[in-house]
Amino acid sequence: MKGCDKFCSYCIVPFTRGREKSRTIDEVVGDVARLVAQGVREVTLLGQNVNSFGKGNANAKNRQPQELHNPIGKVGPRAGEENFPQLLRALDSDPRCAALKRIRYTSSHPLDFSDELIDCYAPAEQGGVARLAKQLHLPVQSGSNRILQKMGRHHQIETYIAQMDRLRELCPDIGLSTDLIAGFPTETEEDFQATLQLLDRMQFDNIYAFAYSPRPGTKAALLPDDVPTEVKNHRLNLLLDHELGIAEKRYASRIGKTMELLVEGESKNKKMTRTHSSGQAAERVWTGRTECNRVVNFVHDSPRSLTGRFVNVRIERATALSLQGELIEHDALFAESPGLTREYASGLNSEIVG
Ligand code: SF4
Repeated sequence: MKGCDKFCSYCIVPFTRGREKSRTIDEVVGDVARLVAQGVREVTLLGQNVNSFGKGNANAKNRQPQELHNPIGKVGPRAGEENFPQLLRALDSDPRCAALKRIRYTSSHPLDFSDELIDCYAPAEQGGVARLAKQLHLPVQSGSNRILQKMGRHHQIETYIAQMDRLRELCPDIGLSTDLIAGFPTETEEDFQATLQLLDRMQFDNIYAFAYSPRPGTKAALLPDDVPTEVKNHRLNLLLDHELGIAEKRYASRIGKTMELLVEGESKNKKMTRTHSSGQAAERVWTGRTECNRVVNFVHDSPRSLTGRFVNVRIERATALSLQGELIEHDALFAESPGLTREYASGLNSEIVG
């Protein structure tokens, strides 16, 4: 889907990208099925406001659920239209997508984060979507209701916390991240402290924080930009430092665990590189992501490329930004990948060197 109907006061997207328009569930599932046939095992569904997917699409196949709810009350597409939980369930159940292992999506809005979408994160045996990655990026922007109201965000901190609490109840290992703006017009020290407190309360794995700057043509640009630049930057640095401390502890709690990664390629982080006793060859450092979207680096000297493979890694060290581990095992070329075509496999084989 593209476009956005939310009109947050600071954002130019609804003016540049227009109103929300969604493809149909059948189109998206067809595209993903084609990718899976080529060997793809992880997809990310994209949209400015992806969880309001389906507005205006007739729900011709009468997929369930037909109505979405949350504590805010106003949620996404209407009854009789397609909606985002239906799309996730259609991808999860389509036999052509059976080899798909992970579905991610970004970006979403708390207003359209429905109870029915939270239900998708339940264990599969309790009605959840098995392939939905245990990861969520849900922008909150501020910890102050007064500032959220000025931002035109249509949600309150109490409901955001309630939504995330329910999500963590169903899916305790979920990796959460968010967006934050420091120094929005009229933001007081008290408002800012509320945002810091929100970080403590939510224990995000990661944040994307920015100092406010006005976008010409938006409603917020008409407000006095009254937080001095040095104060904005100071608050931004405090947010980032505070989160680093939280993330460091959360990442350290993974040490000793075995995690499954999808390998994305060789890492630029050569700090892990070790030299063989012969002094001849350096081991290769690989990087991948867990289902919870944590970056993990590991050393492995196989001549065969591991890119695109699922591997199990035992976590041995942690920083505030990534994990490091030891490879335990990886999937065989065709094992667990019924969707892997011979053409794609021969592409993988051509990566074998030495
Ligand atoms: Fe839409 Fe996101 Fe921009 Fe708000 S911030 S108007 S939800 S794109």
